[in-house]
Amino acid sequence: TGSKPDISREKSAELYEKAKKYFPGGVNSPVRAFKSVYGTPLFIQKGDGCFVWDADGNQFIDFCGSWGPLILGHNHPKVREKVTEVMQNGMSFGAPTALENELAELILKNNRYVEKIRFTSSGTEAVMSAIRLARGFTGRDKIIKFDGCYHGHSDSLLVKAGSGLVTFGETSSAGVPKSFAAETIVIPLNDRQAVEEAFARFKEQVAAVIIEGIPANNGLLLQEPEYMKFIREACTANGALLILDEVITGFRLGLEGAAAHYDIKPDILTYGKIIGGGLPVGMYGASAEIMGHISPDGGVYQAGTLSGNPVAMAAGIAQITELSRSGFYKDLNTKAQEFVASIQRFATARNYRFKVFTAGSIFWFAFTDQEHIRTSAEIDAGSMEKFKVMHRELLNRGIYLGPSGYEVGFVSAAHSKIELEKAKRAIFEALDVVFSN
Ligand code: PMP
Repeated sequence: TGSKPDISREKSAELYEKAKKYFPGGVNSPVRAFKSVYGTPLFIQKGDGCFVWDADGNQFIDFCGSWGPLILGHNHPKVREKVTEVMQNGMSFGAPTALENELAELILKNNRYVEKIRFTSSGTEAVMSAIRLARGFTGRDKIIKFDGCYHGHSDSLLVKAGSGLVTFGETSSAGVPKSFAAETIVIPLNDRQAVEEAFARFKEQVAAVIIEGIPANNGLLLQEPEYMKFIREACTANGALLILDEVITGFRLGLEGAAAHYDIKPDILTYGKIIGGGLPVGMYGASAEIMGHISPDGGVYQAGTLSGNPVAMAAGIAQITELSRSGFYKDLNTKAQEFVASIQRFATARNYRFKVFTAGSIFWFAFTDQEHIRTSAEIDAGSMEKFKVMHRELLNRGIYLGPSGYEVGFVSAAHSKIELEKAKRAIFEALDVVFSN
């Protein structure tokens, strides 16, 4: 074995040149620009099942899955049929439709943690609204977030840790006023003392603590269940709400997501990705009492021209109906766990400094020999060079991973044993190339 020749990217490169004239960085969302991996971004033309095809006709087994929504794979017939059917009646009304009730029932029926929900058009909107709701409900302004968790690009959440254990955050984007960042307290994950200190220092000022179901936007930072329970209790003890951001984990880990996985009751839940079946949908939910604070029932304003869009609802309805079939998650998670376990066995047998962190059908390739990585500070930035080599070798072998070593991969129900075998062999070869350098 050894390096494979690069796939042709002529058409993609041509499209990228054009796109650069229209969009900053040639893209409509930054990671897509392939800045931390080799080559120009691939322009995707088509997806079906576990495969995607780029503009040059290259075929890939896809483990990005549109960053999580496509748990059934691309272009699932049931989703496509439902969307096509609903589209015959028009695309948007800005008025209630029965489809919203239908998707809400599918979500609420599967979830013991929330009583009422509100649909938005993205995860960012859902989380931004959840924060406003927490502030409106508690009458407090500050929020606590964790270094290494991503919650979308709203102002209050584009904040990174300052120096020191418990500090006001610093903005992590130009254009976010310092005064906004000052309302966000950023602390490290997996550190109980930091939680206690933050609550002590900002007594009766904290509206909410927000944490990802499983932090999966900066590597996969698996937290201990006892730590998650501790956070739940710390919120209760200090009169703050717990916002569990399940934009990735909602309907990914199982029908009740990370809340059930840890058996903790969040005060506000946020969902996105999977509940939209690949169309733009987000959602936040809470008890009827808390949700009663949302306009028009209450004083917390939140709205959306395309919220609850019928076509998006249709995709979500079809997808969640499939997920609700008995044994769905058991089959998916077993398949994914066998896949990652064999990759780990291969790497361990060869003494490669490589670890696959995983939960359900989520996985993250880390070039490390640490048994656990629970905080962003433990990620070796230098190891991303290895990911870059791996990403190139995998593309050249027909495997598509998200173009950043900090991003997780997803196994979908559409990945058959045959394709997972193929992917495994490609991953073994790519690892051999990475570690022969
Ligand atoms: N929260 C989490 C946990 C996410 O993973 C994401 C997106 N990756 C968001 C919020 C933002 O969602 P969106 O990109 O749909 O705005």
